[in-house]
Amino acid sequence: MMESAAINTELVCRLVRDVMRQPEAELPLHNPVFGANAETYVTQCVRTGWVSSVGKFVDRFEEDLAEYTGARRAIAVVNGTAALHVAQLLCGVRQGDEVLIPSLTFVATANSVAYCNAIPHFIDVSPLTLGVDPVKLGDYLDEIADFEAGVCINRKTGNPIRGLIGMHTFGHPFAIDEIKLVCQKYNLKFIEDAAESIGSFYKGQHTGVLSDIGIVSFNGNKTITTGGGGAILTNDEELANRAKHLTTTGKTPHPFRYIHDVVAYNYRMPNINAALGCSQLEDIEPLIASKRAIAERYIAAFTGVSGCGIFVEPKDCRSNYWLNAVVLDRNLAWQLNDIVESLHRAGIFARPAWELLHGLEMFKDCPRTDLSNSLDLGQRILNLPSTPNLSRV
Ligand SMILES: *Cc1c(COP(=O)(O)O)cnc(C)c1O
Repeated sequence: MMESAAINTELVCRLVRDVMRQPEAELPLHNPVFGANAETYVTQCVRTGWVSSVGKFVDRFEEDLAEYTGARRAIAVVNGTAALHVAQLLCGVRQGDEVLIPSLTFVATANSVAYCNAIPHFIDVSPLTLGVDPVKLGDYLDEIADFEAGVCINRKTGNPIRGLIGMHTFGHPFAIDEIKLVCQKYNLKFIEDAAESIGSFYKGQHTGVLSDIGIVSFNGNKTITTGGGGAILTNDEELANRAKHLTTTGKTPHPFRYIHDVVAYNYRMPNINAALGCSQLEDIEPLIASKRAIAERYIAAFTGVSGCGIFVEPKDCRSNYWLNAVVLDRNLAWQLNDIVESLHRAGIFARPAWELLHGLEMFKDCPRTDLSNSLDLGQRILNLPSTPNLSRV
């Protein structure tokens, strides 16, 4: 057998350019890709003047999303963060409650907990999925949880633990079945932050529709985009109706009077963004085929490299491979910053994973479990450019 080359900056540079078939051009981490109808639909909005809060594209986008994801209902909103905020309000998250979330996630997951005046309670991830570790979670709750009138209480803080938000990291589904069992045992509301996982399926079902309520994001750097946007997904009609009401200023139906029956939010997705979304959903399957082809090439390229591994979709899942991730061996973790800096100098916009949220100033006093897997993985992950290419799958 040939001796495999050890990971270094030049090698990563060359492999990324080979995989992305871009010998010279700059390689952003993830760019949007638009099909033919993007311009047609957006132009229709501009020509008819229906660019804002009224128009047919929002209804169509919600119907198309429900159909694609298999969710009974989809509610389009201004961004994924707003969707997370409302998802928690709908689950009854209140001031002083704790909500379990991974520390290895984008800051929006924790911010949205804080918007409810609730407290993020950080839990660890599994190296197998990069999502919440069900075994560690179960053991931890066995240790800290009490029940009072059916509500799970953190014995150490005395606060109710109202729910858990799992996150499908880089588009890879986490262990939904196992986490769901833990949530049932402790009577926790279960929310999926599927912001990164549109087009990812767990045992044949779309992510975001396997819990009480899920959310997706259509930010510009996600797999498909509406410019800015997000959606709430649920199979519960009543929750869906309340979601629509809370995200559209709580206005009661009336042809001309403005009657609002609750303090609500202006989180509705504008029609012009939904127009873009409709065109993106038409193209999503070829787009994901392209992303999966890129992932296959990355996996083939990095399998022969020593000193690192490359993340592969979990068993029984179809991942959208939003961002491909190389994981450096522990003894090489110290090289991560140098590699990212050199790649940037070469026009390749790779990046490390997010700073762990429990270390950020505003969350540093929040409760947490042992976070050894997050601490370990957080300093070894290298996300590589993963923009799909519709013309060259
Ligand atoms: C992108 C993202 C969000 C937020 O979505 P926005 O549409 O940017 O508000 C939330 N959670 C995770 C994990 C994300 O990656």
